[in-house]
Amino acid sequence: MSHTFPVPPDAEDRRAVAPVICYPTETLPPPPMALFATARKTARKTGEILVPPREARCFRVPAGQFFRICSVDGPQVGDLNLWNAHDLSERFYSGKTRALHGTHLTRGDRMWSSFPAMRPMATITEDTLEWYGIDPYGGAVHDVIGTRCDPYTGNLLSGTQYHHCCHSNLTRALADELGLPEQEAEPHVHDVLNVFMCTGFTRDTGQYFMKASPVRPGDHIEFFAEIDLLGALSACPGGDCGAEHSSDTAVCHPLKVEIYRPDEGTLTGWSPPPVNGYDRSHGR
Ligand SMILES: [Zn+2]
Repeated sequence: MSHTFPVPPDAEDRRAVAPVICYPTETLPPPPMALFATARKTARKTGEILVPPREARCFRVPAGQFFRICSVDGPQVGDLNLWNAHDLSERFYSGKTRALHGTHLTRGDRMWSSFPAMRPMATITEDTLEWYGIDPYGGAVHDVIGTRCDPYTGNLLSGTQYHHCCHSNLTRALADELGLPEQEAEPHVHDVLNVFMCTGFTRDTGQYFMKASPVRPGDHIEFFAEIDLLGALSACPGGDCGAEHSSDTAVCHPLKVEIYRPDEGTLTGWSPPPVNGYDRSHGR
């Protein structure tokens, strides 16, 4: 593309300025990972849900318990939504989580909730894919840079009417869980944590890319529920997201969600985080 405006003579100097981290996280209170690990050793499985391919299911996790998302039959990506179980207006805020922890999450990172609560909803306590790191393409696993596959973008780009994108799967699952019509459930569906998905941005064009997930059966990611959670997980129609989504073309597999309850008294000193301390006067 030719430039509309002239390139300034010091263009290279300006490009050479070193970046600074927007939100240094040194002042974030660290999650008590050792306490969580000790509690987890005592935990017993209290329930599990199998999410069928190209469908979503809801699950509930009380504060102080763990939930694990497992790869079962084959490589499969999942789209995760979280809400405060008592107030759906408090929900996972992927953009702020990205600003705090970076483009992809792993052990020790937290899933933050929307304004005005803005507190940790869940903390990642185990991730069998943490070895993956950042590959030569700039790809990494468990992103908070995508949105969720949806029928509107498919319609915009290809004129399709596809009904098993994660957005629709999550909408149906939430509608079933709450006994709501789809149109009332849909506005509660939000940008996801792309569990097991391998993504990045191309360096030359800055475009969002995906590649076949490195996840294999037996892998899992586990979370500690910081507040009472309602979750919804969709087994993406993209399967391992190595080729395409928004169609029935890809090979898809189920995902399993397991809930674990630790013994009483193993979380001494921990309590659900309070809502954010900003006074909300906004200068008035
Ligand atoms: Zn999807």
